[in-house]
Amino acid sequence: MDQPNQHFVVDTHPGIVPAEQRTALLANPGFGKVFTDHMAIVRYSQDRGWHDARITARAPIPLDPASAVLHYAQEIFEGLKAYRAEDGGAVLFRPGENASRFRLSAERMAMPAVPEEMFVEACRLVTTTDRAWIPDSPDGSLYLRPFMFANEVFLGVKPSSEYLFLVIASPVGAYFKGGASAVSIWVSDEYVRAAPGGTGAAKYGGNYAASLKAQAEATENGCDQVVFLDAVERRWIDELGGMNVFFVFEDGSLLTPPLGGSILPGITRDSLITLARDAGRTVREEPYAIDQWAADAASGRLREAFACGTAAVITPIGTVKRRDGAFKIADGEAGPVATSLRQQLVDIQRAKAPDPHGWVQ
Ligand code: PMP
Repeated sequence: MDQPNQHFVVDTHPGIVPAEQRTALLANPGFGKVFTDHMAIVRYSQDRGWHDARITARAPIPLDPASAVLHYAQEIFEGLKAYRAEDGGAVLFRPGENASRFRLSAERMAMPAVPEEMFVEACRLVTTTDRAWIPDSPDGSLYLRPFMFANEVFLGVKPSSEYLFLVIASPVGAYFKGGASAVSIWVSDEYVRAAPGGTGAAKYGGNYAASLKAQAEATENGCDQVVFLDAVERRWIDELGGMNVFFVFEDGSLLTPPLGGSILPGITRDSLITLARDAGRTVREEPYAIDQWAADAASGRLREAFACGTAAVITPIGTVKRRDGAFKIADGEAGPVATSLRQQLVDIQRAKAPDPHGWVQ
C-alpha cells in the first residue's frame, strides 16, 4: 500500500526474506554482509531538484555505462547506527550530525546538498520500516548507510547534473569478540591519505579507495589497521583508515589530532571529547608526532591509545609497527579510560543511561 509520509512515499511489501531466514541471518550477521528488505531512494536533477522520494524494496539500481560516478568517482556516504532500546523501540544516535557532515562532503565534491530533514527522515523511515531487522543482541545494531552518487550519462569532466541519494541498512553484530581486544597498527610511511586542500575531511568514496593499498601493506606486516601521517612533514598523526585516534597520558588527560581539513570529523570523536570533558578530564586537540608517540610509550607517560568510530565505538591500540621497529603501549591491553568511555557511550547510544546532550532520537 502506498502512503505518503512527509516527503516519502512508502511502498511496503511483504518482505523479500522470510521471517525464519531473517532470524537465522540475525544470529550471526557479521559486518556489512546482510541487508534489510527496504531502502530509501530519492532522485535529483538540476531542473527538478530532489524528487520522487520513496521507501521501496531493496533492489539493484540500473546504471548506464556512461554514468558519471563510474568514471570520475563523484560519490559520498555516511555511516550511523540504529539500536533497539529496552522498551522495544528503535533509537538513532546523533543523525543530525551525519546529515550535516553529509552536507559538507557534498559541498566539497560539488554535489547538491541533501536537506538535513530529508536525510534524517530517510534514515528514520528505513529503520522503522525494517525494524524487525534490528538485532536483539546486546551488542547488535542496524548500520545505516546513506550515500549519494552522480548518475548523469555524460563523459565530460564536470559536476553531474543528476544524482541519486539512497539509504540502505545492514544488521551488524558485536564488533568485539569477547571484550575490547587491542589491535596492532601499521604506520604508513609511503602512502598518505589526505593532503592540505584535498578531500580528507569529506566522507568521499575515493578516500577509501586510496587507503586500500596502505591497508594491504598493514595486513602484509601482520597489523590490523593502518595509521596515516600528514602529507607535508610525514610526521604528525592524522587518523586510521576509518577511525579517529586518541591518546591518554599519565595525568589522566587526553589528546586527539585537531580537525585541520585532512581528517574526518568523527561523530564518535566529538562525543568522546564531550564525555571526557564532562568527567572533568582535560582533552587537547593538538598535533602529535609519531616519534613523540614512540617516546611517550617508552617512558610510560602514555598510558593508553585508542581508535574510535561508529563501527567499533572504541578500539584499543596495543602495538604500533613501522619499517624500522615496533613499540607497545603500556601492557598492550585495553586501558581503563578507553573501557569506561566506551561503556558510557554505549549506554547512551542504547538509551540505557541518561542522555544529557540530547544525542539519542
Ligand atoms: N575517520 C574515518 C576516515 C572514517 O571513515 C570514520 C568512520 N566514519 C571515522 C573517522 C569515524 O567517524 P564516526 O565516529 O563519525 O563514525
